Amino acid sequence: MSTFQAPKGTYDLTPPRSATFLAVREAIAAPLRDSGYGYIETPGFENVELFARGVGESTDIVTKEMYTLTTKGGSQLALRPEGTASVLRAALEANLHKAGNLPVKLWYSGSYYRYERPQAGRYRHFSQVGAEAIGTEDPVLDAELIILADQAYRSLGLRQFRILLNSLGDKECRPVYREALQTFLRDLDLDEETRRRIEINPLRVLDDKRADVQKQLTDAPKLRDYLCDACKAYHEEVRALLTAAGVVFEDDEKLVRGLDYYTRTTFEFVHDGLGAQSAVGGGGRYDGLSEMIGGPELPSVGWALGVDRTVLALEAEGIELDLPATTSVYAVPLGEEARRALFGVVTGLRRAGIAADFAFGGRGLKGAMKSANRSGARYALVAGERDLAEGVVQLKDMESGEQSAVPLSEVEAELAKRLG
Ligand code: AMP
Repeated sequence: MSTFQAPKGTYDLTPPRSATFLAVREAIAAPLRDSGYGYIETPGFENVELFARGVGESTDIVTKEMYTLTTKGGSQLALRPEGTASVLRAALEANLHKAGNLPVKLWYSGSYYRYERPQAGRYRHFSQVGAEAIGTEDPVLDAELIILADQAYRSLGLRQFRILLNSLGDKECRPVYREALQTFLRDLDLDEETRRRIEINPLRVLDDKRADVQKQLTDAPKLRDYLCDACKAYHEEVRALLTAAGVVFEDDEKLVRGLDYYTRTTFEFVHDGLGAQSAVGGGGRYDGLSEMIGGPELPSVGWALGVDRTVLALEAEGIELDLPATTSVYAVPLGEEARRALFGVVTGLRRAGIAADFAFGGRGLKGAMKSANRSGARYALVAGERDLAEGVVQLKDMESGEQSAVPLSEVEAELAKRLG
């Protein structure tokens, strides 16, 4: 070990586990790419105001969890705590919404940072793959995104997850509900901080995980009873579309999510094998966010799935992804001359698109064959002085154990044939 360790609340991805992370990212991205979502990448940091306005000044993310810094030039920046505000900012900046092709459908993948109290499944640096559909109000779009996330999780083999669904109303009906809720909450026995929250963002009190708070919320007014007709119809349509697609969900009227920008559809994917940090992904509609950050009216919907927790969910379900071995051929040279010759073969194989690795460091046959085994390669190429004198290499099938001499000049063609 060196003098240094990964900072508190972070961890390194190292082989072989890191391969699962790559596969999870790919599994989430694939259905998006196949459904018209284009890849977007934004900086790891943004003007701190973007998140303050976008995510919400009263949210934990902004008040407690942001990594902020002042540059030498005096700019106030923050490491991004989430993706949506940045993606929308970038889409507006690039005028993607003006190309007359709404919705603008985008997907992204990257690192996010929150100064949270670390625990299993909750880190200060984590990784998300997300999707946003910007500029269109259409329940089909909300349904599409939920269905694609469901498809991604299923393609990984996950089964013990549930989809929680709610509607948060819009700018017509939510304020009426908000007031009713505030009136109810002000009469409860709550601590100072929660009382403050009642005034700034009362819906988030519903999200409080503490049992003594939850106990008092049983008779809280329900948003469902306050939804305007348009929101009700919209929500019913999303539900019907999901049902028609065979996607099972649970109505959860307490689901409010920790970000201020959500309107109407909100949803969360929870996994039952993860303990306290059970949310593997979540999202919803954010019809007002564009205007909140100075853009035009652009009703939008999106989600972000956590890669770290998805990997934990796989482990909780005992799922081992069928990851193809990365190396097809492993070359084991015995002696100086063989080293040069076999390295030439390996370089040729690689250029021909065959994944090949090499026993470096002039190792003995036994140790090198162990490495060949560990690499998962289907074939080993072994050559010593005598083989070279005869112009051949020994080609060993690592599965059957069969071995045959193949002329040096034909190795590449032979392997290409065998590997198909
Ligand atoms: P959120 O933006 O909070 O809805 O987060 C979306 C997803 O990102 C969550 O469902 C988690 O899977 C993941 N996530 C959020 N915060 C963390 C964290 N601190 N550590 C690990 N994963 C996280």
